[in-house]
Amino acid sequence: MTAFTVQHSLFDLGSFFTQPASPKAVQAPQWIAFNQTLAEQLQLPAELHATQTGLSVWSGNHVPEWAKPRAHAYAGHQFGNLVPQLGDGRALLLAEIIDKHGKHWDVQLKGAGPTPFSRGGDGRSAIGPVLREYLLSESMFVLGVPTTRALAAVASGELVFRDQGGVPGAVFTRVASSHLRIGSFQFASLHGGAEKVKQLADYAIARHYPELQDRTGIERYLAFLHAVAMKQAELISQWLRVGFIHGVMNTDNTSICGETIDYGPAAFLDSYHPQKVFSSIDRRGRYAFSSQPAIAQWNLARLAECLLPLLTVAPESNDEASAKAARENAIAVATRVLDEYSARAQALWLSTMASKMGIEHAQAEDDTLIQDFLVVLQTHDVDYTQAFWQLANELIENSGESASGESVLVEPTAPAASLFAKPDDYLAWRQRWLQRLSDNQRSVHDTVNAMRSVNPALIPRNHRIAEAITEVEESGSLKRFYTLLNAWKTPYHMPTSELELELYQAPSKAEEVQRT
Ligand code: AMP
Ligand code: MG
Ligand code: MG
Repeated sequence: MTAFTVQHSLFDLGSFFTQPASPKAVQAPQWIAFNQTLAEQLQLPAELHATQTGLSVWSGNHVPEWAKPRAHAYAGHQFGNLVPQLGDGRALLLAEIIDKHGKHWDVQLKGAGPTPFSRGGDGRSAIGPVLREYLLSESMFVLGVPTTRALAAVASGELVFRDQGGVPGAVFTRVASSHLRIGSFQFASLHGGAEKVKQLADYAIARHYPELQDRTGIERYLAFLHAVAMKQAELISQWLRVGFIHGVMNTDNTSICGETIDYGPAAFLDSYHPQKVFSSIDRRGRYAFSSQPAIAQWNLARLAECLLPLLTVAPESNDEASAKAARENAIAVATRVLDEYSARAQALWLSTMASKMGIEHAQAEDDTLIQDFLVVLQTHDVDYTQAFWQLANELIENSGESASGESVLVEPTAPAASLFAKPDDYLAWRQRWLQRLSDNQRSVHDTVNAMRSVNPALIPRNHRIAEAITEVEESGSLKRFYTLLNAWKTPYHMPTSELELELYQAPSKAEEVQRT
């Protein structure tokens, strides 16, 4: 057994990247939730669990001696516009904890009061976004999507003032592989130049891509850009798999290590529409569901711009033409990485969507079959999660045993058709799909299992989260929050009772726009 171990590696990079920021005590902290399993993984001493000491630490009322509270400076493109100076305005980093597997985690308090980067904000968090992030991030984790985690949530006993008036406040403890973002590199580039970008890139390589440690020169930073791009491609393909809409894919919300970060207006799809947006501030649909792969590439292009000086060979001679050639060459190599991102994102989309449909070996031609299914869902307003779950049911209900003991498809019934008011389009598509599945080499049983492992039965439904938040705001009761937290711990398992189905699985009858 190793012991609780902390480090402060970002702090050690110097005051360019972080500023001291002390949490401001809250009036009457009260437990909302504590993630015991995660606490054990982090080897937190028992007094830091759901105890009185834990309460004072995770509310920001007591700064333990192992913490060095700092706010991280970053810049970022918000909805396409560059903001040169952002930074942790309502969050502060306490420490980097090394877990029992040797993995490093940033531990951050969110809503613990103003920092040097608060720009007039109060540095506080309303309880609604705290409950939302707790539910969403822990759901994403069990769904198998890279994400920051929820360690603790504490009600502050104070009101925070937002558009809708005074609402109860809370402090959230978020744990992440790190909080480095593309915006961190933009800050370094804008305010420190190539030297700071290099310092940060070397730090990020050591922390997140140690396999690149031995690389040198231009190749090192190109490999870094490539690694970040591939991680983004994987992350976004996972979002598309589970129907997740991030909502604010600004460059300051794009993590260098490829975790989902910042759950402000995030939501899951119910009825499928590629242009769906949940954030009330995203009026033009910049961050719509199906735009996410392209937006990630746009964000990666911003990272590439920051890295350009590190991708530039020293010009052969001192003249203008040589300098220009060197710059153009750097742009060309960076562009190639961005093209590789596109190819990878497209390939992952195809293989992910094909696996959701039970196709054993995805082929480029499957693109049409997949697209056509999505069009059918969109045309008929069908729930994304339920549709894929029911597809597997088609195979279960239609499979039998052949004389040789192999499972085979028998006389078809069409359980997924029940999701459609007018099932004709679906039934026509279904013929093509079943035809395609007949190419599978594996048994129907194995196909069903494979589909079940990628298609969740339960996703955190927005309207249920909204109800839980309203209940807490109006009556102080956490009953619904806890019911949902527990139910969503096993997202690949379909509940059987009617009541549970209605509570955890049913889409909203009316879709509401998120408050951020
Ligand atoms: P976020 O929604 O976390 O991506 O925040 C965007 C920017 O606004 C970040 O720089 C935050 O630190 C800042 N910010 C958001 N809310 C607050 C708040 N209540 N107080 C201070 N700064 C805030
Ligand atoms: Mg943010
Ligand atoms: Mg946010």
